[in-house]
Amino acid sequence: MRCYALALGVLLLSPVAAADGDSYWVKPDAVLDVERGALRDGLAIRVDGERIGEIVPASAIPDGASVLDWSGHVAMPGLIDLHTHLVGDIQGASPAAPLLSSAARDALVGAANARATLHAGFTTVRDVGTYRAFVDVALRDAINAAQVEGPRMYVAGAYLTVSKGGGEVTGLAPDVEPPAEMRRGVADDVAMVRRRVRELINGGADFVKVIATGAVLTAGTTPGAPEYDEAELRAAVDEAANAGRFVVAHAHGAEGIHRAVRAGVRSIEHGSYLDAEGIRLMREHGTWLVADVYNGTYIAQVGRRDGWPAEILRKNDETTGTQRAGFREAVKAGVRVGFGTDAGVFPHGLNARQFAFMVEHGMTPAQAIRAATVDAARALGREGEFGVIREGLAADLIAVRGDPLADVRRLEDVRAVIARGRVAVPLRHGDVAR
Ligand SMILES: [Zn+2]
Repeated sequence: MRCYALALGVLLLSPVAAADGDSYWVKPDAVLDVERGALRDGLAIRVDGERIGEIVPASAIPDGASVLDWSGHVAMPGLIDLHTHLVGDIQGASPAAPLLSSAARDALVGAANARATLHAGFTTVRDVGTYRAFVDVALRDAINAAQVEGPRMYVAGAYLTVSKGGGEVTGLAPDVEPPAEMRRGVADDVAMVRRRVRELINGGADFVKVIATGAVLTAGTTPGAPEYDEAELRAAVDEAANAGRFVVAHAHGAEGIHRAVRAGVRSIEHGSYLDAEGIRLMREHGTWLVADVYNGTYIAQVGRRDGWPAEILRKNDETTGTQRAGFREAVKAGVRVGFGTDAGVFPHGLNARQFAFMVEHGMTPAQAIRAATVDAARALGREGEFGVIREGLAADLIAVRGDPLADVRRLEDVRAVIARGRVAVPLRHGDVAR
C-alpha cells in the first residue's frame, strides 16, 4: 500500500520535478520588459537551476532541449508584495481572535497562505508582522528549505509597538494580559526600543516593523495619532542599522509620518493622512510609500457583511478616501512607490486586485507593474537579485494571458508560476493557444 502511494506521488509530481536543478527553456509569445514598460516578442528564456541562464530568440533553442511551451502568454518577472501577513488567520470580526490560535496552528495556516500567495504569482513578499513572535521566521526558513511551498519571504519577527498600541492584540478585558510571545516587540522608551530591536534581529528578523501611529484594525487606537516620538523612532533605525537592517513604519497620521521619515525609516506603510509636508519629506529622504489602496474597499464590503466592530468600520471609512487622495499626490510628486497590499486582512492570493486601484488613483499600468517588480526589489535592497528578467538573476517567472500594460487586471489571473527555477504552477493544457 505504502509503495503504491509513493509510486503515485512520483508519477503526479514528475512534470514539476523534472525541471528542478536542470536546464530548461521557457517559450512565451512575448517577454515583458518591466523597466522599459514594453513587450519583446519572440524571446526564449533558459533556466539553469535557480537562475536565468540566457535570453535568446526562440529560434535559437537547441534541438531536443526541454521546453515549457508558454504559447499564447506573456512572461514577466514574479510579483512582489511588500506588505503581507502570511502567519495565522485572515482578519475576522474579533480583534482578540489571535488568542484562539496556537503558534503551531498559526504556522500551518501560514503555510497554506504562503502557497496561495505563490500560486497567485507572488514569488517574493516582505511580511510585515505577526502577533506571535518569530512564527514568520520559521515559515521563511521552511520555504527556503523547500519543506513548504511559498514565496521568498523577508520577515519582521513581531511588531515593535508601544504598550496597548497599534501592534498589540487588543479588545480584551482590562485585567487580561496577552501571552508573552505576543508582546515580544512591546517597548515604551528609547532603551527598551533598542533592546527589542536587538532581540527581534537576534530572533531572525530581516528588518524591523515599527508601529508609529494607531491602527485601523486595532481596537482602542487612533490611526491619526502618533504612538512613538522621534527619538524612539530614531533609536529603532540606528539599532537596526547596526545590524545592517532597515526599519519600515506603519504610519497613518501626518505627524507620525513626518517623525518616521525624519528618523530615517525606509518605507511608510499605509500613509493614510499623507500631506504635502509628508510628501516633501519623503522625496527629500528617498522614503518609499507602500500604500494598501485596495484594502479599504474590501474591509468596507466584508466588514459590514460579517459584522466587524463599528469602531473599525468607521476608522476604515475615514482613512480609505484620504489614503487614495494622498497616494495620487505622492505619485504625481514622484515619491518612490512600492506595491504592498496588507494581504491577511483580505484572503491571500487576491493581492493582484490592488493593481487596478493603483491605476485608478494615478499610476500607469507600467508604473504599477514596476512598483511590484523592479521597484519593490529596490525597496528591499535586493535589486540585482530578482525583480526583472535578466541573465544571472533568480528565475522567478509568471505567465499571463495578453498584455498587462493594456489591461492590468490580467495580473489577477496568473496562469503559470516558476519560483527560483522550480515550477510551482504549470501552465494548464487548456491554456495553450492553438
Ligand atoms: Zn499590515
